[in-house]
Amino acid sequence: MHPTSDKFIPFITPETRHFWEGTKLGELRIQKCDSCGHKYFPPRPFCPKCSSKDISLVLCSGEAKLYSYVISHLPAPGFKPPFSIAVVELLEGPRLMSNVIGCPQTPSSLLLDMPLAVVYEKLSDEIILPLFKPTEKIV
Ligand SMILES: [Zn+2]
Repeated sequence: MHPTSDKFIPFITPETRHFWEGTKLGELRIQKCDSCGHKYFPPRPFCPKCSSKDISLVLCSGEAKLYSYVISHLPAPGFKPPFSIAVVELLEGPRLMSNVIGCPQTPSSLLLDMPLAVVYEKLSDEIILPLFKPTEKIV
């Protein structure tokens, strides 16, 4: 592995491999239960709602909205404080933990429900991390 970032690099497991293979291709992949239709994240080999193992992959649009966040003022590897630790809600429904970038990391710029779009940051040859950027100009 050749890290290109100081950030913590996620470890690929058999369950998460499809997700990281997707982000390498610029695809955000979630799972969908073919029995009950539930779409979910993070990756699991069975449906969290009905336990069915009838699972397929769905490509996301990359559109999301800001569901909640905290602003961290503590230094962390690869981050310059203050930075946001956000929960974003994908257009397709599932929520995931990420960072909102490309705007001031302040409560007056980080508005709940603000529209976001996925962008990708390369952490290593294996790991491309999905981050989110406001789709509207923030001043
Ligand atoms: Zn299900």
